[in-house]
Amino acid sequence: MAPVDTLGRALRDLRISVTDRCNFRCRYCMPKEVFGRDYEFLARDLLLSFEEITRLTRLFTSLGVSKVRLTGGEPLLRRGVEDLAAMLAAIPGIDDLTMTTNGSLLARKAEALAAAGLNRVTVSLDSLDDEVFMAMNDVGFPVALVLDGIEAAAAVGLTPVKVNVVVKRGVNDAGVVDMARHFKGTGHIVRFIEYMDVGHTNGWRLDDVVPAAEIVSRIAAEMPLEPADPNYRGEVARRWRYADGEGEIGVITSVTRPFCGDCTRARLSAEGTLYTCLFATGGDDLRALLRSGASDEEIAAAITSVWMARTDRYSELRSAATLGLPKVEMSYIGG
Ligand code: SAM
Repeated sequence: MAPVDTLGRALRDLRISVTDRCNFRCRYCMPKEVFGRDYEFLARDLLLSFEEITRLTRLFTSLGVSKVRLTGGEPLLRRGVEDLAAMLAAIPGIDDLTMTTNGSLLARKAEALAAAGLNRVTVSLDSLDDEVFMAMNDVGFPVALVLDGIEAAAAVGLTPVKVNVVVKRGVNDAGVVDMARHFKGTGHIVRFIEYMDVGHTNGWRLDDVVPAAEIVSRIAAEMPLEPADPNYRGEVARRWRYADGEGEIGVITSVTRPFCGDCTRARLSAEGTLYTCLFATGGDDLRALLRSGASDEEIAAAITSVWMARTDRYSELRSAATLGLPKVEMSYIGG
């Protein structure tokens, strides 16, 4: 039976973090001061195995999940992640199997991922300007290699490729129009994301957020846009189509126009904790259940009761009172 939460929301999407490690140190996500050399990432035996992830995913699909996204940390750092993709692709009922990646290893991995049955990828790329991008990822990683990854993904059919751009005022917002222009007409869909107050290591301030309306009007001033209907209820991005027919962009308005009312997403951390909100302060340990020999029925019942008790709508309530809450980090819970 498909569970519905206290606000009438069904369970449709599962985001699975396959590692808490990343090879980037984006200032807004995993700043070096916190995630430095002596930071203790999860030990290998604490991570869910591919078999455990597959078993849980099968149970989630029995409860209504049809969209599955692999994320992290950087999912391509998890050894053999293409084998996991193949195991998940074989589960009946998943009609969209995707991955969010920083693209750094994508040129090497795209073919194996497509062969495994991954449907498409979302690549994070915050700027086309090397100086800005290198300062943001803080490991000196160049734009060109991410662009190579995007083209490799497109060449093997991991399409449409979506390109996620987190916009931070005074850091990369000057490049927003260039970014849109670069991908216009390529079939790739750029999605501009309002910088969010996830975690508590990034020192988020409301002043850093560039509202999506401002992003759209800056782009539309040079390349006219018209609003497009959502592809489905609960779609995270608001779509805008180029008036000349050369594709579309999306904006993710998690700060200025939150979309909690339509949120059908569950998140599984790399160590098997279930979260029902990106801004959660705590989750439910499914690994303990898995490793204690629980039956499929018992695990499905546990997931169902977590989902049915769900009341969260953090972004709609965001206020001075929520700012100080001890939220989990995005690199841990998965984007
Ligand atoms: N490493 C992968 C990647 O770079 O896409 C997957 C994990 S990453 C946490 C997922 C997405 O979250 C990325 O697009 C990243 O830019 C975004 N992100 C991280 N912190 C964010 C924040 N504070 N506000 C908005 N987006 C954020």
